[in-house]
Amino acid sequence: MAAGRNAALRGGGSGGAPLSAHGGAALPGRGHGARGPSAAGGGAAPPARGRSPHRGRSPHRVVDVVAGPDAYRDLPRLLAVAESGQQAANVLLSLDETYADILPVQTSAGGTTAFVSIMRGCDNMCSYCIVPFTRGRERSRPIASILQEVKMLSDQGVKEVTLLGQNVNSFRDLSEVQFQSVAAPGLSRGFSTVYKAKPGGLRFSHLLDQVSRIDPEMRIRFTSPHPKDFPDEVLQLIQERHNICKQLHLPAQSGSTRVLEAMRRGYTREAYLELVHHVRDSIPGVSLSSDFIAGFCGETEEDHLQTVSLLREVRYNVGFLFAYSMRQKTRAHHRLQDDVPTDVKKRRLEQLIATFREEAARANAALVGQAQLVLVEGPSKRSASELCGRNDGNIKVIFPDAELEDAAEHGAPGRAQPGDYVMVKVTSASSQTLRGVPLCRTSLSRAAASH
Ligand code: SF4
Repeated sequence: MAAGRNAALRGGGSGGAPLSAHGGAALPGRGHGARGPSAAGGGAAPPARGRSPHRGRSPHRVVDVVAGPDAYRDLPRLLAVAESGQQAANVLLSLDETYADILPVQTSAGGTTAFVSIMRGCDNMCSYCIVPFTRGRERSRPIASILQEVKMLSDQGVKEVTLLGQNVNSFRDLSEVQFQSVAAPGLSRGFSTVYKAKPGGLRFSHLLDQVSRIDPEMRIRFTSPHPKDFPDEVLQLIQERHNICKQLHLPAQSGSTRVLEAMRRGYTREAYLELVHHVRDSIPGVSLSSDFIAGFCGETEEDHLQTVSLLREVRYNVGFLFAYSMRQKTRAHHRLQDDVPTDVKKRRLEQLIATFREEAARANAALVGQAQLVLVEGPSKRSASELCGRNDGNIKVIFPDAELEDAAEHGAPGRAQPGDYVMVKVTSASSQTLRGVPLCRTSLSRAAASH
């Protein structure tokens, strides 16, 4: 699942179940408070309290509609069935549904950022993860429909698009016949998969190239990738294009090769670290984030300390950390024992969080004194006299809302608005936030040209 907005911890995610707390980003479509029939999404039916106001419904019934992730097209029928007083359910998983022909409606007028779904499902079968069972096999949306959506968002004034998928960099568009026999790109060095290399199709590097050409003033991010699928052409593209953010999510999950093997992640600690070094060599100044699970089946104190040392060695800017809780249906549920006691998981998680925060504070402190290009999102939550935005590395930046010069040749001075790019000189940093003084309003292209 998606890396949220610079939260140090998150709930949900690509498999590790949270005992921890801080909320990550709420993705579009995560609905709540819907009126009318009560509904359960994602194939699960959480208990809902209270009586439904609809006629014909049993006072004891708590859920009217159960809709799986591939049931969106069926929603009108499901709701009609529920309106007639019956229960409705569709939790079938599709092998090919990508919703390519459904363009989402942007509901927040003036929104500066948007998410675009590019692929669904996962073929990796990590032993702790429920995603392959709830989201099905990997299938990618045709590039043409993705480009159409990004163009539409650009025309609406959106300034940042995040390409979304369970395994976003495994993207493989098979819709165009002439590309169906193209050789499979190699995996990152030292990485393997549980499935055979899949030839054919237009790959993620091609998509990223095309998307980044649509609007030079639109930032492009993507999440969540798997570290195995970072061929050099993707890294080179990120380095070259001024509007592809120099920010990568490299979910490690553990720093112990023994635990990684039990998780079926397809890499060792050494291979992961080699990838980190390669990424940092290829994209100087890249901001890194990661996911970690504390207390996976069979994790010893020594394994845990290996994870602590990986956090220290890599020094991520953003981290998403969970305590493990076993999910039914997963390989771990069938074959492994959830044998780390809850109090030990909690203690290990707390240690991982403390280590992450220390290192992130150091990584962010290195930005003090530097000018960072910030995309303004709106007023700061804590003070109406301050603005809040994100730098290229997706770190939150707060600065005073003041009259600013415009770096354009004939630009008039004025206050920054949501969707504006502002150059901010960083004056202080914590593990999650940067603070600074605004220097001028500018544009993404102008900032890149003057760099
Ligand atoms: Fe789950 Fe692993 Fe697939 Fe991520 S790569 S969605 S953790 S099975």
